[in-house]
Amino acid sequence: MSHRPASGGPLGVPEGPLPAGSALSSPVIDLPQIHALALPTPWPVGPVQVYLIESEPLTLVDTGVRSRDSWDALVGGLEALGYAPGDLRRVILTHYHADHLGQAESLRRSGATLEVLCHEQEVELVEGFSVERDENIEDTLALFREHGVPEDVLAAQRRRLLSFLEDDPLCEPTRVDRAVRDGERVAFKDLELEVLHAPGHTRGHLLLHHAGAGVLVTGDHVMGEMVPATTTCYTGPLPEPGDPLRRRPRFRGLPAYLRSLRRLRGSALRVLLPAHGGLIAHPARALDDALLFYEVRIQRAWRALLRRARSGAPVTAWELFLELFPRVDPVTQGRNRLLMVIGILDVLAEEGRLEALRDGARLVHRPVADRPEQAPSPC
Ligand SMILES: [Zn+2]
Repeated sequence: MSHRPASGGPLGVPEGPLPAGSALSSPVIDLPQIHALALPTPWPVGPVQVYLIESEPLTLVDTGVRSRDSWDALVGGLEALGYAPGDLRRVILTHYHADHLGQAESLRRSGATLEVLCHEQEVELVEGFSVERDENIEDTLALFREHGVPEDVLAAQRRRLLSFLEDDPLCEPTRVDRAVRDGERVAFKDLELEVLHAPGHTRGHLLLHHAGAGVLVTGDHVMGEMVPATTTCYTGPLPEPGDPLRRRPRFRGLPAYLRSLRRLRGSALRVLLPAHGGLIAHPARALDDALLFYEVRIQRAWRALLRRARSGAPVTAWELFLELFPRVDPVTQGRNRLLMVIGILDVLAEEGRLEALRDGARLVHRPVADRPEQAPSPC
């Protein structure tokens, strides 16, 4: 564990990825109570950054995956800052994913008397966490089936996802003591943070805002050097009453994500403290980069939809995926891309540019401008 003091950068914030096992003491000069710890994960995303808020109650934002390496890095980082796990009194979870929730229960087992906070929409996921539930295999496959993915691809995806369940879980559930919602305050002895609900990456993702210092703890909502995937999932087992297409109710992550990002563009932010990719000293640029990343893909999909519409037949999400990602293996790499394509269709539908139709068990889509009654009048 290296313990680096903050080095000079814009506003004194060091930029660039933090190596796993490193700790940054007071990287934000205006909010010296906050320290960053980088904990290893087994994933290509690299380490996860968790934040110690050195005040009363002593608080950790996110906890790292549950593994020996991650625990050692957490204990080492706390030690470097003068604390032990048993000194912690509160854990705030930005969201329920394994690299954030992973070690909350381990902290409790180590003797910490903790109040655990998360967004009200993630209480069930935190208290009932399991890899099976997180992977949500059958519902995701049902969603893909409804969007035209062939049965042989679905069967191969199921086999692959089931094989992951045999791994040693990197996360375990824990009890939630306080469920928070947008606009609520989390009080400390000498500071206060505002909870912002930022759905998209997950349904109940939260951010922590200190307006005075212009600091935002962003979790996976905005990352350094990366753009997060967004999720979409059914929220009920039966078709929505009144929906002529008989679709099950669904959380639509990409449109929600873009709304959450645009909302932040109006805030006077100076520093973002994300969970991955180092600290962010240029918030506006990071927000614009994330928006642009998705806007480019939405435009590409829109052009593909218009091309397909000229040939007459409406398209499924699967057909659009094949056109946009011809070299991506749908079994090993296709899941997130398919979810992205479904998310893009959701954005276009919300903007009124696209309509969905039912074709037997499948949903198909076509540009609204393609409807015969909207064709330009010849006179
Ligand atoms: Zn996440």
